Amino acid sequence: MTDPLVSDLRRVLGGAAVRTDAIELSLYARDASLISGEAGLVCFPSNAEQLSAVVRACAAHGRPFVPRGSGTGLAGGATPAGDVPPVVIVTTKMNRILEIDEEQRVAWVEPGVLNLDLSREVAHLGLHFAPDPSSQQSCSIGGNVANNSGGPHCLLYGVTNGHVLAMEVVLPDGTLAMLGGIDPEPDGLDLRGAFVGSEGTMGIATRIAVRLTPLPPSVETLLADFATMHEAAAAVTGVIAEGIVPAALEMMDRNIVEVVEAYIHAGLPVDAAALLLVEVDGLAGGAAEQARRVEKILRANGARSVEIASDEEQRALWWKGRKSAFGAIARIAPNYYLHDCVVPRSRLVEVLEQVSEIAAGQGLVLGNVFHAGDGNLHPLLIFDQRVPGTLERVHQAGRQIVEACVAAGGTLSGEHGIGLEKREHMGLVFGAADLEAQRWLRQAFDPSGLCNPEKILPTGGSRCGDIASLPAGAWV
Ligand SMILES: Cc1cc2nc3c(=O)[nH]c(=O)nc-3n(C[C@H](O)[C@H](O)[C@H](O)COP(=O)(O)OP(=O)(O)OC[C@H]3O[C@@H](n4cnc5c(N)ncnc54)[C@H](O)[C@@H]3O)c2cc1C
Repeated sequence: MTDPLVSDLRRVLGGAAVRTDAIELSLYARDASLISGEAGLVCFPSNAEQLSAVVRACAAHGRPFVPRGSGTGLAGGATPAGDVPPVVIVTTKMNRILEIDEEQRVAWVEPGVLNLDLSREVAHLGLHFAPDPSSQQSCSIGGNVANNSGGPHCLLYGVTNGHVLAMEVVLPDGTLAMLGGIDPEPDGLDLRGAFVGSEGTMGIATRIAVRLTPLPPSVETLLADFATMHEAAAAVTGVIAEGIVPAALEMMDRNIVEVVEAYIHAGLPVDAAALLLVEVDGLAGGAAEQARRVEKILRANGARSVEIASDEEQRALWWKGRKSAFGAIARIAPNYYLHDCVVPRSRLVEVLEQVSEIAAGQGLVLGNVFHAGDGNLHPLLIFDQRVPGTLERVHQAGRQIVEACVAAGGTLSGEHGIGLEKREHMGLVFGAADLEAQRWLRQAFDPSGLCNPEKILPTGGSRCGDIASLPAGAWV
């Protein structure tokens, strides 16, 4: 017998936009994280009215649902979880840039618009959408909003929250509401601020007003290589201590430099213990002067060489290397587990050493490529899941890394979110009252508990997402 919800959704969306084949269900059973769940059905609304009707139908049938953009999330946020396999509501067909207001520097977009597509679309106006996750060619702006995503240039420009002015959202009962406003000081409670970063647990954004930022008139990009991680980390602290806030300040360790160089052939020094990629921008003279100051600090902290990109081609090649580092790992092993924790910059060296000991203790290969300027670590545990016992060691190392970062005064996630991956770690940084306050807020948006269940808040016991207990096939 056909599921009555499927019949209702087919009436609203048409048959082709509601999928129930086993192969489609398995494709949408997880995001880019290691955690797999089970999709009840998958649907593709084309506009806000259809999406609202889908959510109303789910509410009427008491069926949980999960918003999904491009599925590049790394914490299991879009992985369907729970006892009743949820409906996965995919926004990829809602990919229109609706309006560009050059004067106000605001664009209204549908949630499925890809991050880089918006910047490309407004480049001729000298504008861009500043949050630039390394996945920006494929991640959606709806996903950026839900995860409050960052990126290399968020050191200067700030994460997504600072670039979202207003949102039309479908609330978990299917009603449409507008949160925030174009006015710099909208009246009322800041529900926009509550929704950004809520990882799809408070409704689904259907139209988003984002701030467009002028492209800097001049950019200088420096590449510095160090014989030790210690010196590279000290150089990071040195730059910030001088009162310079670069647009980006990224670090890559030797393992990462090796795989990246084999991929991009840019002549990167593969014998370096660490490379720093530093970018400063501003008016032409100012950026050049800042680059000179940065170079001096890098050299004073032991840089063996500092190169300044001679042209746009060289700069683009270095950034290609940085942004494709995760993918390049496939050259050395079939699997990786990417972590995302933040530590105070002053504790970078000490925590990096601990992370290295943890990986070695579990017999795992480690790579580090991360947003050093804001202390946002991305240790990559590189492995082959076919080797018996490896997944368990990866899981143990992951937990130890989180504990080490929190013990150093850091926090669970810099930008990838909590999702399923880190919900059981929430107790490491929040007390019972803090967690309860978050639960209240979530319930105020979603009293039925149908919207992206099982995510963010700890359950005390895991019905899905317990990484240690996942079958080997559930891993990337
Ligand atoms: C190679 C690689 C590099 C990455 N680099 C970065 C990086 O530099 N910085 C960074 O921050 N992240 C990075 N990420 C993580 C990821 O790309 C971001 O979190 C991104 O914003 C997710 O967008 P998405 O469209 O893929 O969302 P999805 O994975 O589909 O969903 C993410 C979350 O958003 C919710 N959601 C999706 N759309 C909506 C909507 N319209 N309304 C409400 N909730 C919604 C989902 O339920 C889920 O909880 C990287 C990922 C990969 C694979």
